[in-house]
Amino acid sequence: FSAIPKGYPIPGETTVYDTTQTIDLENVPLNGGILIKVLILSVDPYMRGRLRAPEVKSYSPPFTLGEPMAGGGIGVVLRSELAGVAAGAHVRGSLPHQQYVVAPGLTMLEVLERDPRLPWSVYIGVAGMPGETSYMGWREYSRAKQGEVAFVTAGAGPVGSMVIQIAKQDGLKVIASAGSEEKVAFMKKIGADVAFNYKTTDTRAVLEKEGPVDVYWDNVGGDTLDAAMQFASNHARFIECGQISGYNTGPQPMKNPTLIVSKSLSINGFIVGNLYPKYKAEFAAEVVPRLARGEYKFTEDVTRGLDRLGDALLAVLKGENTGKAVVVVAEE
Ligand code: NDP
Repeated sequence: FSAIPKGYPIPGETTVYDTTQTIDLENVPLNGGILIKVLILSVDPYMRGRLRAPEVKSYSPPFTLGEPMAGGGIGVVLRSELAGVAAGAHVRGSLPHQQYVVAPGLTMLEVLERDPRLPWSVYIGVAGMPGETSYMGWREYSRAKQGEVAFVTAGAGPVGSMVIQIAKQDGLKVIASAGSEEKVAFMKKIGADVAFNYKTTDTRAVLEKEGPVDVYWDNVGGDTLDAAMQFASNHARFIECGQISGYNTGPQPMKNPTLIVSKSLSINGFIVGNLYPKYKAEFAAEVVPRLARGEYKFTEDVTRGLDRLGDALLAVLKGENTGKAVVVVAEE
């Protein structure tokens, strides 16, 4: 992380690929810890929020200027001095964006087994944090009833696409939006009853025709949130998962907050980590096996090479990714 961006992050300026550090894999001291070879890193919208000045407070800590960024990832243990963790084990959790990492222990890491039907990358996608976000947020806040109408934004990404499928499973009519025809086709394929490209189709016209909206899953905020309020039913539930339209340009104020009162709306923002104690085991038991059996569909957007991580992050923030954005750092 080399400079705080003003708007969109600029690869090569906001972040640089540093090749000056070397590591002696045979001899680097572990001091009771583990040496990890990083295999795959997750690229997530919230990382934009961590590219900020240290004095600005938010729910996840800022990255440190001059230090590697970090985020969800999967690695394989090359050497271990840690009881219970053998070389060859795979770990998932927060990893610095490096090719190799010496970790003192399993703080923010867990040893993970893979279902042989799923690739490792899925464990940082729909079988990992983004999938957990969809499942846990929906279970906790949707109060969904069969026959209701859900509206899901950024519906082709890992969070949105899982929400679409879970809402269909619960018997709702699903309206979903995303920013390209390819994404619209994918949202239809996974079961959205109405799927549209918000860049070429007027969101309000769709909601007026297909609504009113009983559950709004917000991934984007901004004017779309205003539109969802305008066409919400009385007692609609708004699940505030993300507001990506403001991540680079700043948030836009809500145009008509009085609708919260007049329509008796419930608005729940959430951070997925806070729901882990309640739902983590349930997610592992319910959702991961269904993914392995092919009952939920997903797509991935794979970038190869740690040197391209900055490009992959910018692509997510610009909507150029189709599916879960991951960076393959190394093959096993
Ligand atoms: P995605 O892979 O869906 O990537 C983000 C997508 O957002 C882009 O592909 C793009 O798709 C869309 N987008 C980008 N800019 C805009 C814009 N200005 N207006 C509308 N859409 C835009 O990401 P995820 O599935 O990983 O995450 C989806 C949301 O969930 C994000 O808001 C993220 O912050 C949030 N989130 C929240 C968590 C929580 O704990 N609350 C945890 C994880 C994610 P398109 O082509 O449709 O524009």
